[in-house]
Amino acid sequence: MKKTLKDIDVKGKKVIVRVDYNVPLDAGLNITNDKRIVATLPTINYLLQQNAAVILIAHLGRPKGKAVDSMSLKPVAPKLAELLGKPVKFVGKDVISAEAKKAAADLKSGEILLLENLRFHPEEEGKNAAGEKDKAALDAFAKELASLGEVFVQDAFGTVHRAHASTAGIVKYVKDAAAGFLVEKELKFLGEALDKPVKPFVAILGGAKVSDKINVIENLLNKVDAIIIGGAMAYTFLKSQGIGTGTSLVEDDKLDLAKELLKKAADKKVNFLLPVDHVVADKVDFVNKAVPAGAKVEITSDASIPAGFMGVDAGPKSIEKFGEVVKSAKTIVWNGPLGIFEIPEFAKGTVEIAKLAAEATDKGAISVVGGGDSVSAVKKAGVDKRITHISTGGGASLEFLEGKELPGIAALPEK
Ligand code: AMP
Repeated sequence: MKKTLKDIDVKGKKVIVRVDYNVPLDAGLNITNDKRIVATLPTINYLLQQNAAVILIAHLGRPKGKAVDSMSLKPVAPKLAELLGKPVKFVGKDVISAEAKKAAADLKSGEILLLENLRFHPEEEGKNAAGEKDKAALDAFAKELASLGEVFVQDAFGTVHRAHASTAGIVKYVKDAAAGFLVEKELKFLGEALDKPVKPFVAILGGAKVSDKINVIENLLNKVDAIIIGGAMAYTFLKSQGIGTGTSLVEDDKLDLAKELLKKAADKKVNFLLPVDHVVADKVDFVNKAVPAGAKVEITSDASIPAGFMGVDAGPKSIEKFGEVVKSAKTIVWNGPLGIFEIPEFAKGTVEIAKLAAEATDKGAISVVGGGDSVSAVKKAGVDKRITHISTGGGASLEFLEGKELPGIAALPEK
């Protein structure tokens, strides 16, 4: 078990906290969704109660190793101050500038300092000034970051799957380190779901591509009782069985793999559920996320999709069939939408699954939802409060489901 915040001494110390403040900004640089900032409040408030001086480091966007004004973390400071009800200092110069170092050195117990975007430095992501991979540059930058404080707390779950200076690199240069409350919660729910799931354990996987989720499917086949496959992914599986898929999004180079995964599922006696009917359309406006005027939208009578039509959502019989399995589940892990849910007409399957997961949770199941689209879907369905755990890290939760080691977690010391 990795050390968590309450395992380390932070009283009166200068504590560097890696947070995920990669928030969406509008053209006027206003924060349009503050959930990632809100998610860090428990850790920050605990540190303040312990009289720590809190030094926050984070990234925003993809500035690719250069200072980019529109990706400054400046707008986050007043928002965080408002949420905490306390002033938050911000240094606009880069994160290891003389000004930043002085602000960190001068910071008193109970004060909060936010530093500038880590990714303005190419070294954060392991590159040197010339843009080449450079482990020594990452290490040197990590050491500079570590010199800002005494102990380190990792609370940016959204970046722990990256081996960056502020995730894995910094740990060896501080006196002590631990996972913050947010990371602790993520590891608890994702970890318990995968390591000791209460059975029946059902995974629901959707989204655009099989290729993105092969490793998740492979890993979960060893653990689950049932896998429900939806979204465009399902059509590759159906085509591999010789079922018509019309103009649906299919990865033709993954047909053999799809067959292999179906065979593995059968060998392991995992109930592998594919849609048995579909909502189909002859035209979809992917750019404007809309149903074009005059488009034909139909529901198929079985799993096959007629020529000239593409699958856009799970049909009613599929939802019913999936529902029976979800309702009886005691552990549910869900990642990826079951249709093109950004288009309201094609969101039904995804929204219904969200409701079914919430119903199962009301009856005692543990439900864990990850991935930006599924998280929006549970909100859209109005059931987000009824889900056991909504993961804050899309990429990180997916890699966790793949059974991969997350470098930002692996680097933390054991209890
Ligand atoms: P992912 O990032 O892999 O979870 O994929 C999410 C995307 O898959 C969303 O933008 C959905 O619109 C898309 N998607 C889901 N179902 C379909 C479908 N039937 N056809 C095309 N795209 C889909």
